[in-house]
Amino acid sequence: MATEPSLTGSLAYEFRTITAMVRIYCQHHHQGTHPCEECRDFLQFAHKKLVRCPYGQDKPTCAKCPIHCYKPEMRERAKTIMRYAGPRMLMRHPVMAIKHLLAERRPVPDKPPKGASARHQSRR
Ligand SMILES: [Zn+2]
Repeated sequence: MATEPSLTGSLAYEFRTITAMVRIYCQHHHQGTHPCEECRDFLQFAHKKLVRCPYGQDKPTCAKCPIHCYKPEMRERAKTIMRYAGPRMLMRHPVMAIKHLLAERRPVPDKPPKGASARHQSRR
């Protein structure tokens, strides 16, 4: 992951939320250290997608996003993880869970602002 640019602002926060969800899911479904290799793979994929998100800091939550940037296999994995970890997040990480629920209610921006992805953050 060292070669990837790092995430900032709401994208960094979203990645922390995803990481927390994956950990909950992994702990209850997989053996060994958490996150396991498979789940680390998934997180790396999610990180890459966040870095490249065309919405940048205005990114809607993934569930509402009109751009389906995940490949089908990862999309299925994401759904399974979110479905399991979503309700449990309220117990384990209430602040994160509530912030995410609030984000779900924000309207989706019309279209990605040009050059808004995390790679072009110099204006912020
Ligand atoms: Zn796992």
